Amino acid sequence: MAGNITFTMIKPKAMANGHMGNILSKIIEGGFKIKAMKLTRLTKEQAMEFYAVHKERPFYNGLTDFMSSGPIIAAVLEKENAVQAYRDYIGATNPAEAAEGTIRALYGTDIEANAVHGSDSDENAVIESSFFFAKREWV
Ligand code: ATP
Ligand code: MG
Repeated sequence: MAGNITFTMIKPKAMANGHMGNILSKIIEGGFKIKAMKLTRLTKEQAMEFYAVHKERPFYNGLTDFMSSGPIIAAVLEKENAVQAYRDYIGATNPAEAAEGTIRALYGTDIEANAVHGSDSDENAVIESSFFFAKREWV
């Protein structure tokens, strides 16, 4: 059965470009309920831990430099079938290929700085939410 929780981050470049408010509005308009949220910042080591599944990929070092380069928003979102619903809502990884009107099409600038993160499975949604929040904050 699909879970009802996903985890998102607004990435540093979207924050620096002033899109925080618009992206949060869009998330809420999409029917996602914000269960927990914080403005925070990752160290390089924390970014490496968060993205450890990608450690063999050529973009790992650049991605973790980027993700630790400035403030981010981390949030736990709730909706029916949240993981897939949110991935559909944010659009393809590469903003140039993301469907019109999706968050990445609107606010992403390139494949790395693609505005937002979205969990890829129910299991990872829990792992990623727990990376940033105490259980009492989102369960
Ligand atoms: P996310 O996990 O951030 O929601 P995703 O599941 O669409 O995105 P992944 O394959 O998990 O994509 O990649 C994680 C992140 O790594 C991407 O969001 C993007 O920032 C970065 N990334 C992916 N592919 C590339 C690439 N070819 N070059 C640079 N960065 C990349
Ligand atoms: Mg992913």
